[in-house]
Amino acid sequence: MTGTRVRVRFAPSPTGDLHVGGARSALFTWLFARHHGGDFILRIEDTDRRRYVEGSVEGILESLRWLGLEWDEGPYFQSERLAIYREHAERLVAQGDAYPCYCTPERLEQVRNEQRARGEPPGYDRRCRHLSPDERAAFEAQGLTPAIRFKMPESGTTVVPDLLRGHITFENRLLEDPVILKSDGFPTYHLAAMVDDHLMGITHVTRGEEWLPSAPLHVRIIQAFGWDLPVFVHLPVILRPDGKGKLSKRDGAVGVLEYKKAGYLPEALVNYLALLGWSAGDREIFSREELIRLFSLEDINPSPARFSFDKLAWMNQYYINHIISLDDLTIRCIPFLRAAGLVSAAAEDPASPEHAYVRSVVALLKDRLKTLAEVVELTSFFFTEGTEDYPAELLVPKKTEPALVLEALDRTRAILETADFADEAGMEAALRALAEQLGLKAGQLFMPIRVAVTGRTVSPGLFETLRVVGRTRTLARLDVARAKLRAYVAQQAAAAG
Ligand code: GLU
Repeated sequence: MTGTRVRVRFAPSPTGDLHVGGARSALFTWLFARHHGGDFILRIEDTDRRRYVEGSVEGILESLRWLGLEWDEGPYFQSERLAIYREHAERLVAQGDAYPCYCTPERLEQVRNEQRARGEPPGYDRRCRHLSPDERAAFEAQGLTPAIRFKMPESGTTVVPDLLRGHITFENRLLEDPVILKSDGFPTYHLAAMVDDHLMGITHVTRGEEWLPSAPLHVRIIQAFGWDLPVFVHLPVILRPDGKGKLSKRDGAVGVLEYKKAGYLPEALVNYLALLGWSAGDREIFSREELIRLFSLEDINPSPARFSFDKLAWMNQYYINHIISLDDLTIRCIPFLRAAGLVSAAAEDPASPEHAYVRSVVALLKDRLKTLAEVVELTSFFFTEGTEDYPAELLVPKKTEPALVLEALDRTRAILETADFADEAGMEAALRALAEQLGLKAGQLFMPIRVAVTGRTVSPGLFETLRVVGRTRTLARLDVARAKLRAYVAQQAAAAG
């Protein structure tokens, strides 16, 4: 690549959510552009009106922005460029490289059925390629609007140069004459993408491997226009975790925005996707800057890559626990807490006491949190007044007398009434001493306290939790627990007597 400025594009079709596979293509393309200081262009390929899904353009843009894959040009919309494609299709007809096709869907269906019955591979029989001028005039007289098909050579071979795979030779006789402009005036991918790649000055066409079988058509179309070929880079497919077939919705979350919603960090997803088919030694964790510096298309492995939900989850947790700062994590958790109604808008202001409180809560989980969304479930008790929603049995550890637990909670309350809540070690020592006096193991005492204060059996460390929840709420929750347990003990006694 001497002299030419790199210009690459991501060209999704608005047929639904942006999937991790599409995001991986976008990422590789973006990294390549950034590595070379080139241009990353966004083009929306919306010419197939039957497959168009309302709202998907917005979803694609949001996904790319969330991943930090900002584009330098576009989005261009192919549906706004129909005149350009028509003009190019007509040019090919005029120069004898394409022809009008009057075949109706019914006729095409019938041809295919007959081919199948004869055991031949189904394909267009090229009837309209060989129409006489009179036959053509007769169709025109019927008022039929033709599609336009490209004339593929009927023999010989077409060579597709691919950066990752070398030169691939295709037998022309196995290829059909593709429709390039439909009778409704919309181009197909074969025409629209080639025209746009040329007019937009695209130097490298990075796209999914599923386009490889039609690449010889594309080579011939580009050559018919007399244009230079771009560098083709067919990116490896992404397989299911077990390697059996292509990754799909049925295997789990594949939409980029599903990961956003589930509380994944875009950095983690980017890092994970970068390693789906690309590598730089054995390293796994790369910052965005490192990826830009190290990325090269030549290092892409052309064989299929397996998607691993577990590995992605691991990487996300690693980023939360080890890569981002506590301040950063706090800021990112707040929208989730807000959406759950646990904190107010004020929490967004880093100078507010509410923000400081959230930070102290998040600090307790920083080294354990797996996703941002999890923060809601794990910390809700820090933000609400009560924890009443648990059954009384939860307060009673196995092989422990309920009445003894009740006494233990009474005495715990008395101790915590005067304890210094900032002194975790002091509270711990006092309560360990209490357990000993009552003949309980530490866990037999700590568990009921944990349940009383948090409403659950799993929480951050007990004493740091007490420190953050504070005296007032701790005592109130102990009172609720004691009342619950007193009723439970009385009920048991009544049942026994
Ligand atoms: N619109 C095509 C798709 O979504 C893009 C293929 C390409 O990048 O050229 O599959």
